[in-house]
Amino acid sequence: MKRIVVAGGGIAGTIVANRLVRNLSEEVNKGEVEIVVLNKANEHIYQPGQALLPFGVTETDELIKKEREVLDPRVKLLHDQKGDITKFDPANHEIRTADGLSHRYDYLIIATGSHLHWEDIPGYKDAVYSPWDMESAQKLREALDQFSGGTVVINVSRLPHKCPVAPMEVTLMLDDYLKRRGLREKTEIVYTYPVPGIFGIKTTNDVMIKIFQDRGIKVISPFTVTKIDPKERIMESQEGEKVKFDLAIGVPVHYGAKVLADSGLPIEGRNWVKTDKMTLRMEGHSDVYVIGDTTNLPISKAGSTADFESYVITGNIAGEIRGNKGRKFYDGSVFCYIATGLDSGTYIRFNYNYPPVPPPPSYVHWWGKLMYNKLYWTVTAKAIV
Ligand SMILES: Cc1cc2nc3c(=O)[nH]c(=O)nc-3n(C[C@H](O)[C@H](O)[C@H](O)COP(=O)(O)OP(=O)(O)OC[C@H]3O[C@@H](n4cnc5c(N)ncnc54)[C@H](O)[C@@H]3O)c2cc1C
Repeated sequence: MKRIVVAGGGIAGTIVANRLVRNLSEEVNKGEVEIVVLNKANEHIYQPGQALLPFGVTETDELIKKEREVLDPRVKLLHDQKGDITKFDPANHEIRTADGLSHRYDYLIIATGSHLHWEDIPGYKDAVYSPWDMESAQKLREALDQFSGGTVVINVSRLPHKCPVAPMEVTLMLDDYLKRRGLREKTEIVYTYPVPGIFGIKTTNDVMIKIFQDRGIKVISPFTVTKIDPKERIMESQEGEKVKFDLAIGVPVHYGAKVLADSGLPIEGRNWVKTDKMTLRMEGHSDVYVIGDTTNLPISKAGSTADFESYVITGNIAGEIRGNKGRKFYDGSVFCYIATGLDSGTYIRFNYNYPPVPPPPSYVHWWGKLMYNKLYWTVTAKAIV
């Protein structure tokens, strides 16, 4: 029997496990293939919804489900201690978990995601609300409810981070939210970004920065935050800027899972696994694939990226198990809706070769974004398309 182990049961791990079981249905039903997901958590959080939560567009209970409910019943799930990976041992094709057990695999897919290190910037945790964290997104909603005007700073601490377009979305939804509450005239919105501009891809940056200018949003970049004084509410940058604020919303520093580095896997930067950009295999190991935020690929850390990647990994593993010739390659595809307010949106669709140019904002794309979120549990996560 062939054993495929998926390390991590977030967006990427769940989609790829469900796609594998659909693709290898016959083999799984005959007991020739087993698919196992190891996940530290028991719950599955749909993180894209965290950007909408502070503005009352969605509710917490729409964003969390038990991982078991999201996985096909034929996929085996080990969670909490039984699924908490403490060591990767690719030389012996094994993974160890916190309950002391070892799990053999024929194929491994690493999907342990990206993690927030608030403590990297002194004062960040005490001063900043972040939709990148569920609890903090909930608190931001309360803080916005109490807000009566002043300066709001949106900060991106370091690149890369989950969903590169989301800081722009949060800023533009905030602009709309403040207008609706009659507070926009009393509020200055300041966007601070660690590289020049407001977004890393020039074609998109050029379109989005114009929208920011038209909406009277001040941009300070490059702005590499080094520390925050939570009492005085001052954010300082490596470039020598100091910004005083009444409310700060930010993106903490992101890392790949620590266990990847501790296990001696090939990593670069902040624990991102070295991944072949075409095959999605981990450097030096033909039986190990990497998916989602965990990779070091030069593309967006996004759920849609994981979805596109899941076709390639599934196709290659299923092909190998069945002895088929031919390979699938990842072309760097990403699709992201971009909210440009609370009733308008645009999108970007791109790959390694074609940079994205967002079309003019419209209600249709806002609606598309909301529909995409609603269909996550029943369509995307289940790998139905
Ligand atoms: C505010 C916000 C807005 C976003 N908006 C969008 C959007 O509009 N569109 C979009 O496509 N993407 C969006 N994203 C990005 C998207 O949520 C992530 O890219 C996606 O969740 C990545 O999936 P992943 O499986 O790699 O990581 P995750 O979903 O974070 O899952 C990682 C999993 O690994 C598990 N894990 C970690 N360590 C271990 C361990 N040692 N042992 C076992 N299990 C472990 C965790 O429990 C978790 O279940 C957004 C994210 C945020 C925060």
